[in-house]
Amino acid sequence: NPKIKHSNTDVLIIGAGPSGLMAATWLARAGVPFRIIDKRSNEIFSGQADGLQCRSLEVLKSFSGSTFDMTALDSAWKMGNHMIEMCFWSPDENGQLVRSGRIPDTIPGISRFQQVVIHQGYIEKWFEESIKHFSGNEVHVERPYLPLNISIDETAAEDQDAYAVEVLVKDLSKDNLSQPEQFSAKVANGLYRQFEGDQEKFYANLSADLENDPNANTEDYEVIHCKYVLGSDGAHSWVRKQLGIDMDGETTDFVWGVLDMVPITDFPDIRNRCGIHSKDSGSVMVIPRENDLVRFYIQLKEVDRDPATKTDKAEYTGNVNDKKASTKGRIDRSKITPELILKNAQEIMKPFKLEMTDLHWFTGYQIGQRVSPRFDKLSRVFISGDACHTHSPKAGQGMNVSMMDTFNLGFKLALVCKGLAKLDILKTYESERLGVARDLIAFDHKLSRMFSGKPMIPNSKTLEEGVDMDEFHKAFLKGNEFASGTIVDYADSILVDKSNTEEPDSDGRAFSYFASKVPVGRRLQTNLILAQADGRPYHIVDRLLSDGRFRVLIFPGDVKAHPENLETLNKFDAYLQAKDHFSKKYTPVNALDNSVIDVITIHATNRHDVEIFDFPEFTRPVDFKGRRDYWRLYSGVGPTYHEGDVDAYEAYGIDKKKGAIIIVRPDGYVSKVTEYNLGGLDEVGNYFERFMIPQEGKVLPKRSIDVDDTDR
Ligand code: FAD
Repeated sequence: NPKIKHSNTDVLIIGAGPSGLMAATWLARAGVPFRIIDKRSNEIFSGQADGLQCRSLEVLKSFSGSTFDMTALDSAWKMGNHMIEMCFWSPDENGQLVRSGRIPDTIPGISRFQQVVIHQGYIEKWFEESIKHFSGNEVHVERPYLPLNISIDETAAEDQDAYAVEVLVKDLSKDNLSQPEQFSAKVANGLYRQFEGDQEKFYANLSADLENDPNANTEDYEVIHCKYVLGSDGAHSWVRKQLGIDMDGETTDFVWGVLDMVPITDFPDIRNRCGIHSKDSGSVMVIPRENDLVRFYIQLKEVDRDPATKTDKAEYTGNVNDKKASTKGRIDRSKITPELILKNAQEIMKPFKLEMTDLHWFTGYQIGQRVSPRFDKLSRVFISGDACHTHSPKAGQGMNVSMMDTFNLGFKLALVCKGLAKLDILKTYESERLGVARDLIAFDHKLSRMFSGKPMIPNSKTLEEGVDMDEFHKAFLKGNEFASGTIVDYADSILVDKSNTEEPDSDGRAFSYFASKVPVGRRLQTNLILAQADGRPYHIVDRLLSDGRFRVLIFPGDVKAHPENLETLNKFDAYLQAKDHFSKKYTPVNALDNSVIDVITIHATNRHDVEIFDFPEFTRPVDFKGRRDYWRLYSGVGPTYHEGDVDAYEAYGIDKKKGAIIIVRPDGYVSKVTEYNLGGLDEVGNYFERFMIPQEGKVLPKRSIDVDDTDR
C-alpha cells in the first residue's frame, strides 16, 4: 500500500521483556540506531521472574560504574532480598516433616555477588531508564506495536550495510485489545496475556484490511527497513514462527501453582529459600522476597484437565503445536484459583500453619522443557530468551538466561552495525547460546523431576522408588553452580581462541599455559588491582565495563625484580603506536585511541617501588590537550590501606617473572591468553585480524565512538 510510511533502522527488537531490553541496553550504550517495540501497552507490574543470579548481577553492574548509578541497574543489589541460605525439609522415619539439611544459597567464592530476589517489573523498569539514559533520551520502548509481516531479502544478506529485512508493524494504541487487565478477578488464571482469542484470525483481519480496503486506515501502519531483527517475543514467539522453527522438547504431567503473598505461619524457615518434600502431598519451594513477600511454588495434586488433550503418548513429539503432549491431558488453567493452590500448600506443610494475606499474584503451570534447534536465520533475524528455551521456573533461570542470550548477541550486533567487525561474528551467537540452552534444559529436566517426585522415607522398605533426599541435596548444590550463570564456557570460535591451553579438566575448563587459573572461554573472574597513580583498589572488572570495547590486559610481571620485562614493555610502545598494528588499525580516525581496543597494564611490582614515568607512554597516554590518562596502569600486587593484601598474579596463576597477555571480549569473557613478549603481541594482532575490519581513515558518528571514558 503506497500510503504506508517507510523508515530505516539498524536493529529492530520485537519484545521488551528482559531479553529484548538487555539487547536494547547494549545497542543504546554502543550508540547504534535501533528501535524496540512491544505489543503490550505497559510493562509487567506483578508476577513472573524474581531471582537474579550472580552472573546477571555482575552484568548489570558492568553497565553502571560510579558515574552511572543514576541508571539504577545495580539498585537490584540494594533493593532485592538477599538469598543466603537454602533449607531442605522432608519426612523423617515417622513421616513427620523435619529439616534435613542446610546449604549456602550461592556457592561461596563463586562471585562477588550472591543471588537476590526482586520482581521482574523493577528490572524491566531499570532497563527502560538506562536505555533512555544511554541513548540520550532518543529511544524508548514503543508500545503497543504489533509486527504483522517480516521478509528477508536473501540476495542482500551478505551485504553488511544492507537493510535486508523488512517488517510491517501496526500501532495498536487505538485497539482495546492491547490493554488487558494484569491482575483482577477477570484474569482467570493470573497470567497477563495478550489476545486470548483466535490470534490467526486477528492477524488475517488486520492484513486483509490493509490490502483490500481502499479506505483502510494506513496511518497506524509502518514498514521498518532494518539491517537486523531480534525476536525477543517470549515463549509463543511470533518471530520464531515466521522463521518456521519448531521447538524440540516435552511436557510432563507435573502441575504446579505459584502464589506471591505475605504468609502468616509458624514455619521457622519462612525467610529462607526452602525445598519441602512432604510424605504424600507433594512439594513446595519457598522463596522469600522483597517487602516481606514470599513466593510459593506448590505442587498441585488434583487438577482439572482438558479431556480433549488426553493422550496415550508418554513423550512429547517435538512439535510445538502438538496439544497431545501429556498422558493425562492439559490442565484447565481457569480452574486453578489462589484458594486451591493455598489448600495444596497447607497439606504439604502440615503440621505447620499457613495462611495468606496480601496476595500479589498467582498462576498455574504444567512443567515442560523445550528448546529451539536454531537461533537465527541468515544471521539477519535472531531469536532470544523464552523464544528459544522454556522450562520450569523453580531454578530461577528463565529471565537470567534470557538476558544472557542478548548480553552475548548485543555487542556483536553493535560491532557489526558500526562496521568495526565482520558479519561472521554473528554466527557465534547461535553456536555459543544453543549449547547453554541445551545444558539448561538438561539441568531443569533433572532438577524438576527430583523436586516433583515422592521422597524416599529414611530406613523405609515400602517406598524404595522415591527420591533419595541426599541425592537431591547434592544435585541442588551442583545445580547452584550452573544456576549462578558463572560457569558458562564458550567453545573455540572466531571470537575464542583456546590454542594456548591445557587439555580441559573434569569440569571442562581449558586453563591457559600462561595464566594457569584462567579458563579461556569463561568470564574473567574479578580480583582487586591498585591504580598506580593513587593506590585506590579497583575490582578489575569495574575497569572492563560493558561499553563495547575489547580489552588487552598486559601483565608484564615484576618489572623491578626483572628489568628485562620493562624493556619488553618499552618495545610494546612502538608496536602499539604503529598504524598497522591492532591498537590503531581498527580504530576510526575520529575516535579515541582506546575506544575500540582498550590496552590496560597490570604489573607485579609494589607500587611504591616504581613511578608512573618509569613506564612507557602507552600505559599513561596524553590526549590532544595534553591531559594524561592515569587509569590504564595498575599494580596487581601489594598491600592496600583498607582492604588487605592483593595478588592478582597469584589469583590468575600468572608467573611474576614471565608475565602474560589476556584478551577479554566486550562481554567480559576471556578470548585468548598468550605469552608476554613481542611474539605474544603478534598473536594478539592475529586474533583481531580474524574478524575486525581495518578502519583506514574511516570516520564514525560521534555517538557510536563515544565510550565515555570518565565512567570508572
Ligand atoms: P518475556 O518476558 O516473555 O517477554 C516477551 C515480550 O515480548 C513481552 O513483553 C511481550 O509482550 C512481547 N511480545 C510477545 N509477542 C509479541 C509480538 N508478537 N509483538 C510484539 N511484542 C511481543 N525466570 C528467572 O530467571 N527467575 C525466576 O525466578 C523466574 N520465575 C518465574 C516464575 C514464573 C511463574 C514464570 C511464569 C516465569 C518465571 N521465570 C523466571 C521466567 C521468566 O519470567 C522468563 O523466562 C523471562 O521473562 C523471559 O524473558 P523474555 O524477554 O525472553 O520473554
